[in-house]
Amino acid sequence: MVIFRKAADLQQYLSQAGRPVGYVPTMGALHAGHVSLIRKSKSEGQLTVCSIFVNPTQFNDPEDFRLYPISTEADIALLLEADCDVLFLPDEAEVYPHGAVMATAYNFGDLEAGLEGAHRPGHFRGVGQVVGRFLEIIQPARIYMGQKDYQQCLVIQKLIELMGLEGKTRMAICPTQREPDGLAMSSRNRRLTDPQRSLSSILYQCLISIQTKSGDQPFETVRKECFDLLTQKGFEPEYVELADAHSLEVLNDYDPNRPMIALLAAKLGKVRLIDNMMVNEIAA
Ligand code: AMP
Repeated sequence: MVIFRKAADLQQYLSQAGRPVGYVPTMGALHAGHVSLIRKSKSEGQLTVCSIFVNPTQFNDPEDFRLYPISTEADIALLLEADCDVLFLPDEAEVYPHGAVMATAYNFGDLEAGLEGAHRPGHFRGVGQVVGRFLEIIQPARIYMGQKDYQQCLVIQKLIELMGLEGKTRMAICPTQREPDGLAMSSRNRRLTDPQRSLSSILYQCLISIQTKSGDQPFETVRKECFDLLTQKGFEPEYVELADAHSLEVLNDYDPNRPMIALLAAKLGKVRLIDNMMVNEIAA
């Protein structure tokens, strides 16, 4: 694996490689969820580039940024094991040479207004800025992202459109990797205490219950059950929603004629966790 810290060096290397590039953006503290994206890219024969950069502009909570786990040596070991071809490890000056405020900000309209966008003001602007910059540098044929951050996937799909890269860069949304008890793998899980970790699979159980009760009970009843259960177990639920899986329009009730996705976010102590699950599968 080749490691680059400078954008120009990476660009020069990629321009000489003569192979389509598969790109996996990350913020490090890598786990099996990230590795699944690398493996998918490798299995599709791409020259696989992983970036690790904890992007300050996408954190609305300074404490969350300060406490974000960093484990670069262990990350490199995992990437070597996954046979990743290239690691891009830039510092902030390299990503934002003219300062973060000068980096292009994109408008994602309704897509960034609800759900995560409503609870993390400015988050998707930051995500758009950093992924936009990396897409310019890396110019991948495919970008691999996890369904775990479903709204982010749709935002980046829109970014590809806004940057005029359709036809050049295609998005692959890869399945959420879970712990044996159902908890979605996440770098933030490392910040959970043991008792918190034992409780955290309740998020998954809520999603299963939303999926199972589709068609049997009004969504409002199921949402209230989830909110009550989470609160009773010591979580601070932020949202439990049902949305159209293509547009992310929030739905008041189950609608079997639309592709539906259930999404939720809750805080456990200081750690904010998100997850989602398709409720029915209807092709686009
Ligand atoms: P992050 O490092 O949290 O910014 O995530 C980098 C990429 O890994 C994003 O595309 C995430 O959606 C994806 N990812 C994070 N957790 C998982 C998971 N449990 N399963 C699959 N992909 C994931």
